[in-house]
Amino acid sequence: MAAAVASKPTATLYEGARLIIGDGSEAIDDGAILVRDGLIEYVGPATEATIESDVRRVSLVGKTVMPTIVNPHGHIGYLKNGNTDSANFSRENVLDHLRRLSYYGISVFQSLGTDRDDVEIAIRNQQRDGTLADPELALLLSAASGLAAPTPGSENGGAFFAPDAIREASTPDEARAVVREIAKKNPDVIKFWVDTRDGVKEKFSPEVYSAIVDEAHNLGLRAIAHIYELDDAKGVVRAGADGTAHMVRNPGPDKELLDMLVANDVFVFTSMSIQRGIPEGPAWLDDPSLLETVKPEHTATVRAMMAQVPESMRPQLKAGYEVLESGLRTYVDAGVRVLLSADSGVLHQFIGFAEHRELESMVDAGMPVLAAIKASTLLPAQMLGLDDRGSLEAGKRADLLVLDANPLEAIANTRKIHTVIIGGIELDRPAMSARFLSTT
Ligand SMILES: [Zn+2]
Repeated sequence: MAAAVASKPTATLYEGARLIIGDGSEAIDDGAILVRDGLIEYVGPATEATIESDVRRVSLVGKTVMPTIVNPHGHIGYLKNGNTDSANFSRENVLDHLRRLSYYGISVFQSLGTDRDDVEIAIRNQQRDGTLADPELALLLSAASGLAAPTPGSENGGAFFAPDAIREASTPDEARAVVREIAKKNPDVIKFWVDTRDGVKEKFSPEVYSAIVDEAHNLGLRAIAHIYELDDAKGVVRAGADGTAHMVRNPGPDKELLDMLVANDVFVFTSMSIQRGIPEGPAWLDDPSLLETVKPEHTATVRAMMAQVPESMRPQLKAGYEVLESGLRTYVDAGVRVLLSADSGVLHQFIGFAEHRELESMVDAGMPVLAAIKASTLLPAQMLGLDDRGSLEAGKRADLLVLDANPLEAIANTRKIHTVIIGGIELDRPAMSARFLSTT
């Protein structure tokens, strides 16, 4: 009886690929990955692999395998047909986005504070209890609703596409009460905004956001702050925030902030590509890998939106982006825990594609490729407490991004995807692409 079972392949050996482990270590040139029951059983040099006779063998000669990407910052459910709008938000659109993420090899996505009617939380719960098990859906984490200060006579300064989905608080006591209400939904993190949106919105005082952070911590939750300004970054770190959703804008980080970030091991999200799309010019919208999921008429919608930014503003946007690039180098050199954050699902940040643009932006700014990949895979997985994900390691899930070209030579090669394997299951990407392009 045992022999009959053994005659059927029980495991798959992927052999011959270059392996990027995701922990920052040097790539392995002729690698092997043995996958059994959705888990990696062996990963390393092919010459050291023990190969049983009943194993299914798949040659990946000429390919590169890296871990799938983990994005801890985006806003799911709002972008559709090139428009970012609360009217687009639905369970169906959230699920569509989770499929787009999987398609591009983004296996985990954390949505930061723009849930409506608990749609995100419900999907997250179904994934967690196993009633929505589907390798075509990226794993969703959610902050549920975030918090922002009220602006009298106007919408708050939280996410522009979802001010009504964001909770407001005016005093420390109110802030604590709102955090407790949000915590009842068992969110993965507490998100809050501290931003005047160029002087037109109210922002939380340090007293109020200190209460948010403290109450979150009392409840065993971490708190992430949206900030753009240097003083606000220092303020939220002083208040105990666990991370910032953006790097600081002009003038960039100073020594005091860097010292505080390192001393408290506060993580910093990169959020670069969302600031790059317009000053770079629209040619990137023609990327063939983007057109695998987005129709030309919908990239045209985004192109028209980008073209509305006056020519006279472009030098300023470009200079602002250069501050982010030099800032990234400064954080990295100082030893700050920098994590990929694509802020995807907003404006031109096409879900699934934006994550690859973000990784490219990090490398273009001067981050070493292997460090940038680690900051896009293992480090965010660890931050999210997903110990079985984020790197190619025996015992972890077989979540593999298989590439036709080598990202160590050109980082944009992470978009030349041969296949995506999630929990040991190979996605039918051509069928998925056809469905993305056939729906309106
Ligand atoms: Zn965001």
